[in-house]
Amino acid sequence: MRLFLKLLARNRLALAGAIVLSGVILLVLLTPLLPLSAPNVTNTADRFVRPFSPGHLLGTDHLGRDLLSRLLWGTRLSLAVGFSAALIAATIGAAIGIVAGYFGGRTDNLIMRGVDMLMAFPYILLALAIVAALGPGLMNALIAVAAVNVPFFARNIRGITVGIAHKEFVDAAKLSGMGHTRIILSEILPNVLPVIVIAMSTTVGWMILETAGLSFLGLGSQPPQADLGSMLGEARAALISAPHTSVVPGVMILIIVMSINLLGDGVRDALDPRLRSGALSRPMAATLVDRAEVPEKRTDGILSLDDLETQFHVGDRIFRAVNGVSLSVVPGECLGIIGESGSGKSVTALSVMGLVASPPGVITAGAVRYKGRDLIGMRYPALRRLRGDRIAYIFQDPQATLHPLYRVGDQLAEAIRCHHRISKSEAHDRVLELLKSVRIPNPESRARSFPHEMSGGMRQRVGIAMALANDPDVIIADEPTTALDVTVQAQILSLLDDLRRDRGLAIIFITHDFGVVAQLCDRVAVMYAGRIVEQGPTPEILANPAHPYTKRLIACVPELGGGRRELAAIPGLPPSVDDLPPGCAFAPRCRKKQTSCERGEIALKPQNGRAVRCLYPEWRPS
Ligand code: ADP
Ligand code: MG
Repeated sequence: MRLFLKLLARNRLALAGAIVLSGVILLVLLTPLLPLSAPNVTNTADRFVRPFSPGHLLGTDHLGRDLLSRLLWGTRLSLAVGFSAALIAATIGAAIGIVAGYFGGRTDNLIMRGVDMLMAFPYILLALAIVAALGPGLMNALIAVAAVNVPFFARNIRGITVGIAHKEFVDAAKLSGMGHTRIILSEILPNVLPVIVIAMSTTVGWMILETAGLSFLGLGSQPPQADLGSMLGEARAALISAPHTSVVPGVMILIIVMSINLLGDGVRDALDPRLRSGALSRPMAATLVDRAEVPEKRTDGILSLDDLETQFHVGDRIFRAVNGVSLSVVPGECLGIIGESGSGKSVTALSVMGLVASPPGVITAGAVRYKGRDLIGMRYPALRRLRGDRIAYIFQDPQATLHPLYRVGDQLAEAIRCHHRISKSEAHDRVLELLKSVRIPNPESRARSFPHEMSGGMRQRVGIAMALANDPDVIIADEPTTALDVTVQAQILSLLDDLRRDRGLAIIFITHDFGVVAQLCDRVAVMYAGRIVEQGPTPEILANPAHPYTKRLIACVPELGGGRRELAAIPGLPPSVDDLPPGCAFAPRCRKKQTSCERGEIALKPQNGRAVRCLYPEWRPS
């Protein structure tokens, strides 16, 4: 709720709408208390008094009635009717929509065809027909306006319900033995409620207009009772001679409908979960950079990170996801980054090409150099030319990275044509070549497949082919095999291994599995809470881990045929990166912890091509 109000307040127009509307509502609520003349008392001696006359701030109408009083009482009535109509239409429409969408099949068919029939009539004609049948009067106008809007709600809500009714959590509720009513009330309704509110907030204004329309035609409120529509209707005859009688209710309708619509749009934006989860806070094209200085280049390699710091600024909390990471890779080398989930591996990888979403991500220090050029300070167009061309990514879930509606061949061709001007047929040949290089059998026909027609392993091969499309120098693979089963994982790993040998690719391979590191990586960096705690050649680290964390991570890998032993899970959880302890972040979980571990920074100490951030390492070079 607080988030909702905050999002709403950020939208200036919606805020203005809310203020104006609350002003109007407050005014009409206070109307009975205000010292106004009675709205319906006629005084033919004072006909068509101009506005701003003594005693009649807004003048009088053709029967000498005070316009201000009639306006406030009329607005009160119009708002009440409009809101009630919206509420009634939403309740009935939503109920119909939920029932149709939830039960589906014949129920759905029957209900929705009825709704379709109602929708086939022009709006106002239907309302007129209903009022004609019920007889004129404000109550009947309300019923008519509500009735013509029911189909709109029913259609909308049915669509949403159909999508929800087949979700797993509804199936789970059914399996747990809940009845239909309970499922609808506890599982479906909370999910469609925001949509109902959104639909209502965007239609209230419209309904007020429709009610006014009916009253204008003399079918709504009956004389002498005033509502905005009937005031307009009565003023019609004097439109030229006494324009203020029409302008006063007209302006009020304009103000009300405008403010409701502005507010309604704001409510929709703030409530819509799709808009809320990012679209409103439009991420920038490249991660925000806010660093004081560019660190010196200390390592060489085709890609090197120096003291990279990436943070998330959420409200007044700062998450130090990457906290001074230095790495480098040379061509043909595979560097592993390993660590528990949440240790900052993905954020490190995404920071390289400025892919961390901003807001909330900010790169606060450090440099990322590709062939000596600093990517962090680079202008966006230049950075974009490198993305996917010289440095490419492979992500964990190829299902999510591939577009579901395009054939994989076309998507691969697009990846190439994005960076190189080549003809369609050249691109096609290149696509086949790529598919062949990632060992996809039958590339001709596979290029015409859609992503959902392929298996997980096959899709990940396409993901790799896409990364290779422009012959990059560096590939950053973020847990590319985590979603795959072990046999497919082994194939993918050997494929990547061959590719880097054949093409001299530099690979940064992110994983949480030491088994994978052992198979593929020449060197490995162990991350914990946003920092590198140990780094060195893989065989040496596997044989003699120096950091207690590394040792325990390795102990977590089960060995086949290694006899019975207890798998050593690491007790406790990694610290939250918005509240890091002073000193070693691993200390609270470490068995060798001393008081000195929790005092002050601990440096990453290099020793013989390795480096470790620990005061009491498990192993020292002899
Ligand atoms: P992993 O090592 O599993 O890939 P990540 O790099 O994805 O971990 O995340 C590192 C840390 O960054 C996490 O602990 C998380 O708390 C923080 N983080 C990631 N994204 C956000 C975000 N949008 N807002 C706040 N914190 C985030
Ligand atoms: Mg990750």
